[in-house]
Amino acid sequence: MIFTPEHEALRKTVRDFVAKEINPHVDQWEKEGRFPIHDIFKKAGDLGLLGISKPEKFGGMGLDYSYSIVAAEEFGTITCGGIPMSIGVQTDMCTPALARFGSDELRDEFLRPAIAGDMVGCIGVSEVGAGSDVAGLKTTARKDGDDYVINGSKMWITNSPSADWMCLLANTSDDKPHVNKSLIMVPMKTPGITLSPHLDKLGMRSSETAQVFFDNVRVPQRNRIGHEGAGFMMQMLQFQEERLFGAANMIKGLEQCIDVTIDYCKERKTFGNALIDNQVIHFRLAELQTEVEALRALVYQATEMYVRGKDVTRLASMAKLKAGRLGREVTDACLQYWGGMGFMWDNHVSRAYRDTRLVSIGGGADEIMLGIICKLMGILPGKKKD
Ligand SMILES: Cc1cc2nc3c(=O)[nH]c(=O)nc-3n(C[C@H](O)[C@H](O)[C@H](O)COP(=O)(O)OP(=O)(O)OC[C@H]3O[C@@H](n4cnc5c(N)ncnc54)[C@H](O)[C@@H]3O)c2cc1C
Repeated sequence: MIFTPEHEALRKTVRDFVAKEINPHVDQWEKEGRFPIHDIFKKAGDLGLLGISKPEKFGGMGLDYSYSIVAAEEFGTITCGGIPMSIGVQTDMCTPALARFGSDELRDEFLRPAIAGDMVGCIGVSEVGAGSDVAGLKTTARKDGDDYVINGSKMWITNSPSADWMCLLANTSDDKPHVNKSLIMVPMKTPGITLSPHLDKLGMRSSETAQVFFDNVRVPQRNRIGHEGAGFMMQMLQFQEERLFGAANMIKGLEQCIDVTIDYCKERKTFGNALIDNQVIHFRLAELQTEVEALRALVYQATEMYVRGKDVTRLASMAKLKAGRLGREVTDACLQYWGGMGFMWDNHVSRAYRDTRLVSIGGGADEIMLGIICKLMGILPGKKKD
């Protein structure tokens, strides 16, 4: 990808924002299990960072997706995974379908304030019984007069405890699973919505996660994004930006892990020599850095294609898969070289080890990515008929 001075200016804006407004507080927010999301989103919104590729008509910058990827990469300098994930939910997970297919009325009501940082959004797809198997979700939105009446629940919903609205995927008919779903904008203060206490997580500690319950929740039918029954298709498209953001966001965090490990291994001596002087260690770190560069190249290639309007399902799935795999490999190897210090809860690398573990699970597990890649390679066996 060729970066212009405008890309570099945006990169610097994000980096400065992270260094000034976020990183000094991360340790405290990680301990508290939340960060002041409305305050941080407002500051990010004032800088234009929540609507980089969104239409100017609704307050976005109207730039192509390569700029969003530069920002995603730079948000990876945040010294935890939870806050960039929360930001990514707002910019690349709960807003792409709304921005692309929502009516002007809906975009004025929900997208404009999300871009400005005045509202926090969340995305409600997963359920207790349907994570990987999105088509199998059970939450329903039944028509009643001009409204939908929603019943069911959504599990592991990032940002939900502070969210002003949810982009909800629900069954709006009894048709086949891929054509019976719609995306519906649901204000979180609507009567009938309740939340579980915060879910206690292995990592991503500073991002808030809860289960959300819907008991006869009534929203107008005009809150539906696009055509009825097109929700599954729109969610699959929306996943492409989620996966590209997720992969791009990993790059700098993994490089930071390698960098702090190099510094530590230069200082730490065993048997009279610096750890870094062991060939097994400096070769391994060089190999990991090479892998991170390969991830970067994959992300950039997918982004270039996306900007050119091509279908990037294959490359975005590969990037997401590679990011998850590499997250586990880099953080595990680096943690090893920190020895006992790496096993301490507050260690930079141990936090990354816990946080990056989610990347192989959330937003489509590694095996789901492999299934998509196999399908596009034409090597996924068809369903067997008895
Ligand atoms: C911290 C966190 C935040 C999240 N945020 C959100 C959010 O904001 N919104 C939202 O909608 N969801 C969210 N999720 C949910 C997340 O997307 C799901 O957990 C994920 O899609 C996996 O679904 P599951 O947990 O039901 O796993 P399952 O579907 O039960 O799968 C379990 C495991 O089985 C394997 N597997 C599954 N299917 C296959 C297969 N066909 N072949 C081979 N192996 C397979 C995979 O290894 C998978 O990890 C979040 C989850 C977490 C933990």
